[in-house]
Amino acid sequence: MANLMRQIPGEALKELKETLGDMNASADPGVLQVYSFMNSMGGALTGVWWASPIAVTLPSNTDEVRAVLRICKKYGMRAKPHSSAWIMSALANSSRVVIMDLRRMDDLEINVRDGYAVVEPYCTAGEQQVEIMKLGLNSHVNGAGPNASNLASATSMQGSGGTSQSMSNSERNCLGVELCLPNGEEVLYLGSPGTPNAGWFCGDGPGPSLRGMMRGAIGNAGSQGVYTRCGMKCYPWYMPPFDCGGSPPFFDVTPLPNYELRTAFWPDYDSECDALYRISENELTDYCARLGPGAYEEAASTTNEEYLSMVESGIYRNTFPKGAWTFSFAASCSEELECRLKTVEKIVDDTGGILIDTTDLGHDAHQLVFQTAIRGCYIFKAAFMPTGSWMCFPPMSYETIDNLWKINQPINEEIKKELIAREQISDDYFDNVYASLDEHGHFGHVESPYHTELWEEKEQSMSGMIRGVMEGLKHHVPILYSPQPQGEDLAVYSALIAKVAYLLDPDGVMDGMGISSMTMGMGSGGGGRSIDDIDELEEIKEALT
Ligand SMILES: Cc1cc2nc3c(=O)[nH]c(=O)nc-3n(C[C@H](O)[C@H](O)[C@H](O)COP(=O)(O)OP(=O)(O)OC[C@H]3O[C@@H](n4cnc5c(N)ncnc54)[C@H](O)[C@@H]3O)c2cc1C
Repeated sequence: MANLMRQIPGEALKELKETLGDMNASADPGVLQVYSFMNSMGGALTGVWWASPIAVTLPSNTDEVRAVLRICKKYGMRAKPHSSAWIMSALANSSRVVIMDLRRMDDLEINVRDGYAVVEPYCTAGEQQVEIMKLGLNSHVNGAGPNASNLASATSMQGSGGTSQSMSNSERNCLGVELCLPNGEEVLYLGSPGTPNAGWFCGDGPGPSLRGMMRGAIGNAGSQGVYTRCGMKCYPWYMPPFDCGGSPPFFDVTPLPNYELRTAFWPDYDSECDALYRISENELTDYCARLGPGAYEEAASTTNEEYLSMVESGIYRNTFPKGAWTFSFAASCSEELECRLKTVEKIVDDTGGILIDTTDLGHDAHQLVFQTAIRGCYIFKAAFMPTGSWMCFPPMSYETIDNLWKINQPINEEIKKELIAREQISDDYFDNVYASLDEHGHFGHVESPYHTELWEEKEQSMSGMIRGVMEGLKHHVPILYSPQPQGEDLAVYSALIAKVAYLLDPDGVMDGMGISSMTMGMGSGGGGRSIDDIDELEEIKEALT
């Protein structure tokens, strides 16, 4: 019967209120509705509201988080933690879900000497960056923007963005975590904080690294318990803190010494790839991400009318018909800046590309590039501007540069061209992909966003989704970021991730992402799913203890 629970039992709500205070637990229908809709991703695809939780809670510390987990277990309910709730996996994914909104847990501790910060779930990437810049440090802000939680990005979600090139992905910056296990009894420390008094300097040890197990490929999406603290690696910042005056939406950034921005584009994917390999290998840029002309239109326009006039005039489509990369250079001195700029100029020239100083794009475009390169400010404006809703077509790859541009992107391009021509999705230009590269290497990620206006008779994107999946499988590129297991041997990875989730949550307290999480290489929510070979699980358990 527990599976059919649509309303929280009165006793359970009473216990939650007694534990958290009257104002911090609610089953009010109005409150539940607020926690049931997300206009990105799922909402864009279906136009429907997400599953409704049966209660919403606001714990304020680790003990309260554990108490909520215990109450969930006692009454056969499921818990779904969320930090800033920017993505739909933060909402209920099944019935009988109690949302744990962690916004009251927003602490930030900075250790300047050892170059790290310890954050709670609702400390956002932007807040962390503002504070540490005052102390000569900087940190990666992933492409979701400064509003997203650093802890969620490091432990439970993706974590990539333009500054991944110089400051890595969020999960690679994770220096240890505090995790409340789903039973609500135990608190597990992974990484160096697992050794008493060692501090938060290493996410891997002592002993075998458990970071991969914690995340799977792109995060466990709330299926392993509740992360309540996380150490985040910081990097040097050589300049005064980033400062903006003026008024929204473009503000005026105070120019920074030894800091420059360039935009580059190439006539075809071959030359684009050649240049990207060389730019990466030579460790030349700090921010390195691709913004399509559609993203410029979406981010630079302030009204829908202005957006449509930009589409009509083709102002950005004519300038960057093959998309454009944004590069930032944050150097420690003028000599370094000059050397890096000259090297990029030579590479772009050798590979037949064009390099533009972003100040030549005009005030608004320069401001949005500047603020995005430092604080990830405008990508979400681009995502929501024209229709209020967005989604990405598969395949969405984490892959080598060649795979991204020669396999993944042509599939996306063909799908978008056709659907735009049939007016089934909005015309945001077929090559509007967002991409970034990692750690000055050969690896990166690409995603092909699109917009729909589902109230328009012809618009629908399902055929594009299906076609993207089929083409991705055929060409062996990841469908949703992580490699697709094909064949018995290759499925081992996903199976192990599912088993780890089961090991941590045998009672199925957490509301994970279900089967989709396994294809994404995330941990599946235990959720009482049957796992046959418990023996193998026991072996893992033994190896870990
Ligand atoms: C417009 C837009 C653009 C995006 N672009 C990017 C991008 O470029 N790169 C990128 O990496 N991601 C991107 N995302 C995806 C996502 O929002 C990010 O990965 C984000 O950093 C996650 O942080 P959050 O605060 O939004 O997490 P939430 O939405 O709060 O949670 C994300 C998941 O983690 C789980 N979770 C959250 N907190 C905890 C916790 N304390 N303990 C256990 N589980 C928890 C939730 O249950 C949920 O499944 C984008 C999303 C949007 C809407």
